[in-house]
Amino acid sequence: MTRIRSSATRRRPAAAADSTPPDASAAATPPPPAARAAPRKRTAGKPLHGSAEAPRRARLMNAKQAGDFIRALADANPAPETELHFSSPYTLLVAVALSAQATDVSVNKATATLFLEADTPEAMVALGEEGLARHIRSIGLWKGKAKNVIAMSRLLIERHGGTVPADRAALEALPGVGRKTANVVLNVAFGEEAMAVDTHIFRLGNRTGLAPGKTPRAVEDALVKRCPPDLLRDAHHWLILHGRYVCKARMPECWRCVAIALCNYGDKVRVPPSR
Ligand code: SF4
Repeated sequence: MTRIRSSATRRRPAAAADSTPPDASAAATPPPPAARAAPRKRTAGKPLHGSAEAPRRARLMNAKQAGDFIRALADANPAPETELHFSSPYTLLVAVALSAQATDVSVNKATATLFLEADTPEAMVALGEEGLARHIRSIGLWKGKAKNVIAMSRLLIERHGGTVPADRAALEALPGVGRKTANVVLNVAFGEEAMAVDTHIFRLGNRTGLAPGKTPRAVEDALVKRCPPDLLRDAHHWLILHGRYVCKARMPECWRCVAIALCNYGDKVRVPPSR
C-alpha cells in the first residue's frame, strides 16, 4: 500500500556536459546552434520519466479533466482495497507503520506470523522488541520500526485504553506515525475522506498534471480540492494502485492506461518497448 522507493537523479543535459570549454576564452564563445539543440542523453539505470524526488511536471489539468481522470480509474476498479493484510485498526496501524520503504508483499509476509503472536497492543508489548524483531527482520529499517511499534503500543494502552484513536492529532502523536500513516488509518479503518500521499501518488500528481506540488502535503491538498466529492473516500486507493502498477516510476505503461486521453504528461509511452 504505502512504500517509498528511492530512485536515481536526472542526468545533466549531454550538450552541457560535452561542451565544457578548456579555457576562459572558449567559455566566452557561445555554443553553435546545433550544440544548444543537442538532445538530452539517457543512461541505463537512470529513471527515464522522473522519480519521486524529481518528478517531471505536466501542464495543470482543468477541474473537469481532473475529475474525469479519477473517474476513469474508478470505473476500471469499482471496489478498490488496500493490499496490506489486517484484521483491526490496530493491526492496520502496525502494518502501515512497517510498510515505509518496504513492499506490501514483504510486510504481509512478516505480519502473517507476527499477528498470530501479537494482534493487540497488550500482546505486542508483552512480545517485546526482540520478539517483534524475529518477525520483521526481512523488512527495511526493522530496528527503528521495532522500537516504534513497541513504544506506540505502550502509548495506545496508556492514553487510549488499548484502542486506536480515530483522531488525526492523537494518531500523529504516536511514535513512528506521520501524516501519511494517519491518513491511511483514518481512511481505511474509520472511513474518513483522508488522502494519504505516498511516493506513487506524489509522482502521479506531478507527472500527469492532476495535482502538482513540491511536497506531499501540497499534492494532498490539491487532490482533496480537485477530486469529485463522491470519489474522495476511495481516490487514495485508485491513485496508489495506478501509480504502482501502470504509471510506474521508471516508465509509465501508457499503452494500457485507462486515463490516457485525460493525462497531460508530455512524454507518454504509447507502445510497449520491444523485448
Ligand atoms: S497516460 Fe501514462 S503518464 Fe499518463 S497517467 Fe496514464 S500511464 Fe501515467
